[in-house]
Amino acid sequence: MSNLFVMKFGGSSVADSDKIKSVAERITKKAEKNRVVVVVSAPGDTTDDLIEKARSISRSPDPRELDMLLATGEMQSIALLSMAIKSKGFDAISLTGPQAGIYADNVHTKAKIKKIRPVKIIQELKKDKIVIVAGFQGINPNDDIATLGRGGSDLTAVALAAALKCRACEIYTDVKGVYTADPRVVRNARKLNKISYDEMLELAGVGSQVMMARSIEVAKKFNVTLHVRSTFSGETGTIITKEASNMEDVVVSGIAYDKNEAKVSICDVPDRPGIAAKIFGTLAKKNINVDMIIQSAARERYNDVSFTVSKNDLKNAILLLKSVAKRLGAGPIIFDKDVAKISIVGIGMRSHPGIAAKMFRVFAEQGINIHMISTSEIKISCIISRKDTKKAVRILHKKFNLSHT
Ligand code: ADP
Ligand code: ASP
Ligand code: MG
Repeated sequence: MSNLFVMKFGGSSVADSDKIKSVAERITKKAEKNRVVVVVSAPGDTTDDLIEKARSISRSPDPRELDMLLATGEMQSIALLSMAIKSKGFDAISLTGPQAGIYADNVHTKAKIKKIRPVKIIQELKKDKIVIVAGFQGINPNDDIATLGRGGSDLTAVALAAALKCRACEIYTDVKGVYTADPRVVRNARKLNKISYDEMLELAGVGSQVMMARSIEVAKKFNVTLHVRSTFSGETGTIITKEASNMEDVVVSGIAYDKNEAKVSICDVPDRPGIAAKIFGTLAKKNINVDMIIQSAARERYNDVSFTVSKNDLKNAILLLKSVAKRLGAGPIIFDKDVAKISIVGIGMRSHPGIAAKMFRVFAEQGINIHMISTSEIKISCIISRKDTKKAVRILHKKFNLSHT
């Protein structure tokens, strides 16, 4: 469909009635000349509040029922936004994820989108309606509502833009774009005009909340150009797109932190083939993602295996690991929740050696102890004490000169 835009509004953009009305204004302006599909998140902190409510009823809420509850957050937003648009004399219709034809897999609370059949969306667009879709939700093979993981409205928006072959996908949020670091932590962080999919993917993967990492994977796969911009101003934001030729000039594009991971160690693991496959295979079977794996060199045929998992998965991971450790004849499991992962990302790292050494030197000068290190071609991550997070982000931002182009 020509002239079709997907506009996604995050939770802070629809946090109250006045904000919903101003979002409606922004959408109707666009709809004067274009067809528009809107994706919205739950208002403000609704998702967090619903999770807390569920936990006040049950310590580990049934995942199917939790998804049923969480999906209601986005449903409030679509209904209210549709009402606001209609009261401005435009025609609109709200659709849940299942109504919009978003098919997900069976993994409750972190389902993947399997396919999109946007039949109803297209029918309604043809009737000249503004279509408003609930983000973060789909229908699974059991005909149950499944949610797509935190930040999942970004994924809904990008996947819909790909399925509908849109001109552009605009991500409206409470900051003016993607910055060199979280602007809430680094006051002189700089807004980037452009960033490549690969860099954004790494930044999102290591904690830059501004975009959900999985949404960037989809954008890259289907070549959807994204425009991250402010809901509250007309300024151009950040374009996320394919790598441009001059991008390599910038060594470090951004810094991110993540306080949601915990460090886990299995001590005294027998040193024989197949052990790592057993440990990590067991976690993978339960959909627990593992990051930053370190195995110490063997001493007397035993070694320690340390890695990080999301804090949400920590309890389950420890339960599973206790039984694996017993079967393998390994020692105790220890964990540390007071850690943070600090990462620097940049395409230019490929061609500029010494960046990791500089990062470690900066930490050494500040007396910040490094617990774990991992690297990719365009990223270096360190696990440090959680209490040092802000200090680490600010000093790296300064030492890599990120406030200046
Ligand atoms: P939304 O509700 O619109 O989805 P989020 O809260 O998920 O918004 O993401 C926006 C927030 O991401 C910002 O308020 C900002 O504090 C945070 N953030 C973290 N890292 C960055 C970054 N590098 N650039 C911009 N924002 C960032
Ligand atoms: N409401 C969901 C969340 O808070 C999805 C989103 O906002 O993208 O994670
Ligand atoms: Mg978000």
